[in-house]
Amino acid sequence: MVVVCQSSCIGILGGGQLGKMLAIEAAYLGYKTAIYDPNPLSPAFDVASYRFNYSFADTQQLERFAKFCQVITYEFENIPLSTLEILIAYGAHIPQSTLSLQIFQNRVTEKFFFKEFESGPVPFLKLTHLNDLDYFIKQNGYPVIIKTLSLGYDGRGQFGVHNAVDFKKAALFLKANNFECIVEKKIDLDHEFSIQIAKNVRGEVVVLGPFENIHKNGILHQTYFPARLSALQKRYLNRQAKIFSSVLPDIGLFTLEYFLSGNTFYINEVAPRVHNSGHGTIEAFSHSQFYFQLASVLGLPFPKKIKTSPFVMTNVLGQHYENVLKNFKDKNVYRVPIKFHFYGKDDAKFNRKMGHFTMLGKVDTKHIHYCETLLGPLKNNKINFESFDKRDVLMALTNHCQTIL
Ligand code: ADP
Ligand code: MG
Repeated sequence: MVVVCQSSCIGILGGGQLGKMLAIEAAYLGYKTAIYDPNPLSPAFDVASYRFNYSFADTQQLERFAKFCQVITYEFENIPLSTLEILIAYGAHIPQSTLSLQIFQNRVTEKFFFKEFESGPVPFLKLTHLNDLDYFIKQNGYPVIIKTLSLGYDGRGQFGVHNAVDFKKAALFLKANNFECIVEKKIDLDHEFSIQIAKNVRGEVVVLGPFENIHKNGILHQTYFPARLSALQKRYLNRQAKIFSSVLPDIGLFTLEYFLSGNTFYINEVAPRVHNSGHGTIEAFSHSQFYFQLASVLGLPFPKKIKTSPFVMTNVLGQHYENVLKNFKDKNVYRVPIKFHFYGKDDAKFNRKMGHFTMLGKVDTKHIHYCETLLGPLKNNKINFESFDKRDVLMALTNHCQTIL
């Protein structure tokens, strides 16, 4: 078993906010990080010990990266497989292997993999021709969603087909994407959840979550922990996660996304990495999702028990950025235990993830509403604290903050 020693350099492929948070966790643990990303404005460059700002196809730099880093991991699954193969050929130590990437960077291989499980995917079909779409709609009815096979994120690379008019537009979408698409039934979603499972080289396994996820326009808006599920439903998801990790002989941290429609769970997709829905674990769990991804690849042991507390995590998109920055500087906002994260991106584009904030404390309507309020301008610069039960806030503060203000 390889345990990567402290002061070694961890290579991270991808320099977005997930790479940034992985690098920060690595620094806490005494490791250096080298971030590899073709985008010179990658947020993770701000906190990395070393920057590799080159293309994922630059063989010379990949050789240098492979020799420079004692272990390599990734922040997202859309790294070209060829990049990993080149790194491996140059002797890179990549404990996660390429198997998970092969399966989960393509929606068809991913969906076929899911068919093995009790909670399978929603009905889907790989499209090769417009007739396939017609056939699928005849079988399943409207509405359906067309999704590109790869590179989709935050609802991008998707096209909803609700009626015959959309059907005509779908032809253009399919052509533009060379028919590299699947179609799936758009189901009546009651709720969405995610659950994370980490497995290290020692064979230890840990499950985080389930988390309850609220999406708006295909983008994660808020995550609640604990998820509002029955004990039975939680045990069910926990079991699914364990079965998943026993079927997939790969190590690392995996995030499984589920839909709940009526009493039926469907598995939607798997990210073989840390995930937006796990961000609240930074403040609310004794060991965060970032710890577990790193511990998995570094050969570190997993803690036997982790302390968890309730949280509401809210994403800050480009359109919220200005207001949230103002609220972040308003001392009144800190009468409740809340922590802001900003990713350091320069351009606050519409729907671009610019940061998030995590509020500790119960998951209930008033806490959820409070977080919603912070996305917009505060009316007369005031928040109604009357509706908060002081005991809840105090309890959260004493549990999680060193000083009570
Ligand atoms: P991404 O890779 O962008 O996260 P997803 O497949 O997870 O793609 O889709 C994003 C969101 O769109 C989901 O979280 C869900 O809210 C909605 N969605 C996706 N597929 C379906 C579906 N088949 N039925 C209903 N809603 C869906
Ligand atoms: Mg998703």
